[in-house]
Amino acid sequence: MNIVTTPDPRLRVKCKKVNRVDDEIHEIVKNMVQNCLDWEKEHKFEISAALAAPQLGYDRRIIVVRDDMDNKENANFVPLLNPEVIKTEGKTLYDFEGCLSVPSVYGKVPRPAKARIKAQTIDGQEVRIKADGFLARTLLHEIDHLNGILFIDHIKGQKDAFYRLDNKGDLVPVDYEKEIAHNKDLFPDED
Ligand SMILES: [Zn+2]
Repeated sequence: MNIVTTPDPRLRVKCKKVNRVDDEIHEIVKNMVQNCLDWEKEHKFEISAALAAPQLGYDRRIIVVRDDMDNKENANFVPLLNPEVIKTEGKTLYDFEGCLSVPSVYGKVPRPAKARIKAQTIDGQEVRIKADGFLARTLLHEIDHLNGILFIDHIKGQKDAFYRLDNKGDLVPVDYEKEIAHNKDLFPDED
């Protein structure tokens, strides 16, 4: 497993645009999908919904998003290159997010309800996606990664926003002062 986890500085860079889809890009996409599948084999309560290139240490604007995020049997992922948020709409919704790069920590994260995204497919086609619900949240989370932003940044300092999975697979609140506030892996610049 080569998932990069916080506080690794490679998660904090603004990634470079993909200008040409060559063998290297295909290889990166292949590795990203494989790592999603490998990871979830070891995490029985969780599904890999998506991954961004910097989570494997690649400084490129690439994400992969699962075709069907409710179905672990479906192993198809759609690669998107240079995804950009064109517009966000709707009210702010709070829902749970986790991240392969932020092990064991979950958060109740505010995101706009809808997002319009522009990206290129691996074949070089431009696509526009009108997303809402969990897809909008996922795309915004992954595009954040390409700009060096993690979900924990959106809830920093919020005492009732952090959770973890218990051994039955339920999300339970964590003690913010004890487990989060002074955790140097999450917030290296604090104190
Ligand atoms: Zn993430």
